[in-house]
Amino acid sequence: MDCIFCKIIKGEIPSYKIYEDEKTYAFLDIACDSFGHTLVIPKKHCQNALDCDDEYLQATITTVKKIAKHYVENCGFDGVNIFNASGESAQQTVFHLHFHIIPRKKEDGVDIWPLKEKYDLDLKDVCDKLKLN
Ligand code: 5GP
Ligand code: ZN
Repeated sequence: MDCIFCKIIKGEIPSYKIYEDEKTYAFLDIACDSFGHTLVIPKKHCQNALDCDDEYLQATITTVKKIAKHYVENCGFDGVNIFNASGESAQQTVFHLHFHIIPRKKEDGVDIWPLKEKYDLDLKDVCDKLKLN
């Protein structure tokens, strides 16, 4: 399978490893768009959060939390943004599940929130259409 993140796990493509355990791998994003932008991935291939098996998804989230706490407790950051894109319409570009961690400091000038526009929504209607139970 021609997956760049599987190749990173196998060491076929170099990466700056932040953390690794039996089921997960964390490394710096190549984009260099903020200090410490980190990706956390499961070692078993899946496309995104929608098809990942629960065991690996849970392990990946646990690693996200571990690294986020490390950044805040040991690396001088005040908080983190954690996000995931699942699906092309969600702007996913690499189809091996990954969570982004963006370490944040107060007044660092980073603006991670892409949605600025407000819509005239009837939240009851939205809820009726989306609720699961
Ligand atoms: P997505 O857009 O799918 O949520 O995020 C994919 C991320 O993977 C991007 O932020 C991109 O910079 C990163 N990326 C793509 N190719 C590589 C690579 O070869 N090495 C590393 N370290 N990051 C990569
Ligand atoms: Zn993969």
